[in-house]
Amino acid sequence: MQSPAHPHLDALVSLDREHLIHPVAPWRKHEQRGVTVLESGRGAWLTDASGHQLLDVFAGLWCVNVGYGQESVVQAAAEQMRKLPYATGYFHFGSEPAIRLAAKLVEITPASLTRVYLTLGGSEAIDAAIRLITQFYNNTGRPAKKHFISLERGYHGSSSTGSGLTALPAFHRGFDMPLPTQHYIASPYSYRTGLDDAAQIAASVAALRAKVAQLGAENVAAFFCEPIQGSGGVIVPPKGWLKAMSVAARELDILFVVDEVITGFGRTGPMFACDAEGVQPDLMTLAKGLTSGYAPMGAMLMSEAVYAGIADGAPTGAAIGHGATYSAHPVSAAVALEVLRLYEQGGLLANGHRVAPHFAAVLDGLRDHPLVGDSRHRGLLGALELVSDKASKRGFDAALGLSDRIFDAGYRNGLVFRSFGDHILGFAPALCFTEDEFAIMGTRLKKTLDEILAAPDVRAAM
Ligand code: PMP
Repeated sequence: MQSPAHPHLDALVSLDREHLIHPVAPWRKHEQRGVTVLESGRGAWLTDASGHQLLDVFAGLWCVNVGYGQESVVQAAAEQMRKLPYATGYFHFGSEPAIRLAAKLVEITPASLTRVYLTLGGSEAIDAAIRLITQFYNNTGRPAKKHFISLERGYHGSSSTGSGLTALPAFHRGFDMPLPTQHYIASPYSYRTGLDDAAQIAASVAALRAKVAQLGAENVAAFFCEPIQGSGGVIVPPKGWLKAMSVAARELDILFVVDEVITGFGRTGPMFACDAEGVQPDLMTLAKGLTSGYAPMGAMLMSEAVYAGIADGAPTGAAIGHGATYSAHPVSAAVALEVLRLYEQGGLLANGHRVAPHFAAVLDGLRDHPLVGDSRHRGLLGALELVSDKASKRGFDAALGLSDRIFDAGYRNGLVFRSFGDHILGFAPALCFTEDEFAIMGTRLKKTLDEILAAPDVRAAM
């Protein structure tokens, strides 16, 4: 069913081309291609401005975990806007939703985390973690601990320092990144390393130990990781990997920072990926599913020890100069509280558990497709990795432009997902998906892959 096209679509496309800079886009290529204006959403479905209906298997940008059109969230935002649209956290002011949200986050995250700083999104949460870890070591008499370690293919936002913990070329090229204090260890990319689960975990632990030894533990501040690497290509480490890395970090006397911006809020099954392995991080970053994209917000949580080190090590009465006008925004906090209620009392977490096997079946069902080298998933987060040769796991030449072609073919077939590099398709459906919607996803995805496979230049490359 098609809706009528937007009456001013051509004008919008021209204005976009002339004025709006898009995040993480090839700017000139975007101008040539033109914007796709998204118009409305309901549940797992989007409608664009030309009336095309799309099944969104990426929850916006892995964030709209409750799905589109949740009226109770809209009401929570409207009520808070009417009552008090803004309250600063400066000068010892605050608002009820922000205070209740902080308490709720402490209640549902691992027990090690007791203090919450509310931001505008994930990048700012990572940035806060880096700045406050720096303050922590300075205030506790270990000022040499300034080096940070993260994973190759990791993504930790695009702030001016966090982009150096991100280990993807586009975030470094031309930005003079990474900083000399930022270092990487190999990603637990079992499909490519060929290691079995135990060997993969042992390899990652050994790599962290070796990197800390090389830098000197007295110089290393923290290890940052995603429990499942998202933007690096949905790399799912073996079960037990996160726990092993947390134990190693503790033994090495470095802070263990878990970036659950994507994996939080039911994305991988439990409320947080840490829960599945009983991991107790020193710091945790959150965003995306926190508000399900209905309002911008992220969070950075820390342990009591880190909090006390910062608070008690600062000169008495001196301000700790980290904050922003919109920190702990009351409307975003009210939205987050209602979104969290939907996960728990609204049954969305339970629905996510119920439908996850159908998601897994769609991806695993395509394993035998000639283009598919690997399918991997946990909960409602997954990927298909395409190869031109299954035995050698060889990818495709970038000149084929497969990434754009697959995305475009999916779009024509009424499917929104994400393509990484030239050969990885990422999926993160909302927790409200139904069994029938996964059946539609399966049909449309297979049709998309079949169309790509039928192209003569793709066949020639295989
Ligand atoms: N960390 C991770 C793991 C992410 O996936 C992202 C966003 N994709 C961020 C941090 C940054 O969050 P934001 O885009 O909200 O700044």
